[in-house]
Amino acid sequence: MSRTTARQGTICILGAGPSGLMAATRAARSGVRVLLVDHARYPGKKLRISGGGKANITNLDISWKNYAGANPKFVHHALKTFSPKHMLDWLERRNIPVEQREYNQIFCKRSAEDVLTALLQEARNAGAQLLFSRRIEGASRTPDGKGFEIQTDAGSIACDFLVLALGSPAWPKAGATDLGARLACRLGHKIIPFAPALTPLIMPDDWALNGLSGISLLAGVSCGGHVFRQPVLFTHKGMSGPGMLQASLYWKPGMPITMDFLPQTKIKTEAEKWGKLRLVSLLCRTLPDRLAHKLLENPTIPNLSQLGERKVAELSREHWESIHAAIHAFTVTPRATGGMACAEAASGGVDTADISPRTMESRLVPGLFIIGELLDITGNLGGFNLHWAFASGAVAGNALAS
Ligand SMILES: Cc1cc2nc3c(=O)[nH]c(=O)nc-3n(C[C@H](O)[C@H](O)[C@H](O)COP(=O)(O)OP(=O)(O)OC[C@H]3O[C@@H](n4cnc5c(N)ncnc54)[C@H](O)[C@@H]3O)c2cc1C
Repeated sequence: MSRTTARQGTICILGAGPSGLMAATRAARSGVRVLLVDHARYPGKKLRISGGGKANITNLDISWKNYAGANPKFVHHALKTFSPKHMLDWLERRNIPVEQREYNQIFCKRSAEDVLTALLQEARNAGAQLLFSRRIEGASRTPDGKGFEIQTDAGSIACDFLVLALGSPAWPKAGATDLGARLACRLGHKIIPFAPALTPLIMPDDWALNGLSGISLLAGVSCGGHVFRQPVLFTHKGMSGPGMLQASLYWKPGMPITMDFLPQTKIKTEAEKWGKLRLVSLLCRTLPDRLAHKLLENPTIPNLSQLGERKVAELSREHWESIHAAIHAFTVTPRATGGMACAEAASGGVDTADISPRTMESRLVPGLFIIGELLDITGNLGGFNLHWAFASGAVAGNALAS
């Protein structure tokens, strides 16, 4: 017996963030009945606060290489179906002005609110029923195995198709929870444990660069085989800034992070131009003063502190090896991440091995679709997570509409 097609049945989408709203609009446009449920009175809060309120909505240079997860290539079909060009057209058609910033990032010129308003309006106009301020208590397969039943604090909802678009537990202040993973798990899906990502890293109390809070500079940051060249910021407890947030996506407890504080040149090259300077003066010319002094005091590199007053032209090859290590390969093992409270995303989620990348439908539970950050797909910093929410929502919405 063939199963109910989406055109005949009711679709219930849990979560009205960008992925759920995109799926709702695409599906509802085909005339199918769509219910969109969210516990928030004003859903989509993460989109609203994204990019400091301007939402870094996409990136002109996007590929599966910008994503982490057990199988980052899972995103390939969705990125082809909904590319940065599709995103830019979508924004233009809605008169939402954008601007390009460094690293090919596209931000809203006015406000992220423009995007959320457009998504909500379109879902409504397409005929989706928005059921907000609803607590979701559970979701299960109906006994006949043909549909689903959603329990909420305002009664049960029966549907033929269920879309989980409930995001990850990162940044709970925005109404984020792990409900999506719990529901998917109960329906038979494997969950890769969530971990905070795109978050500051906390350094050990006694680390060599303690006390530099407020200093920001361009650095090369390497972690787990991934290298980023972006600004980093020293904080009271450790380090933040785009370079460190990127590294946090790949960091696991016990893993060292290596930093190059002068990625645009080599300290030896600078020394050749300024041979008469003392080493400390050379470092202060090329790096923020306080950082230069701290690097020279690094207790993990023997005798470095004694070299500061020496003329750079007089230093030996061995000395330069130590200086090079201190500046271009400073290594520290962070103590922890900043936690979910200040994570812009979470790694982990529903294992993509059991999801079709062409439709976002479960391979285990026919009629169940899973999209957005709830899946084990996490983008680098730079607009990749919002793009993924839109793209995966579009793919599921198209599949449900056909
Ligand atoms: C501070 C911050 C800044 C960010 N900046 C950027 C950026 O500039 N660019 C970028 O690409 N990404 C950014 N992100 C990440 C991006 O916002 C998310 O990846 C994206 O919103 C995920 O979309 P989603 O639809 O999968 O989930 P979400 O946007 O998280 O939507 C999930 C929806 O489910 C609802 N929900 C959750 N739990 C429950 C529950 N128990 N019951 C009922 N409803 C529930 C929520 O209310 C929400 O409306 C940022 C994130 C944060 C926190």
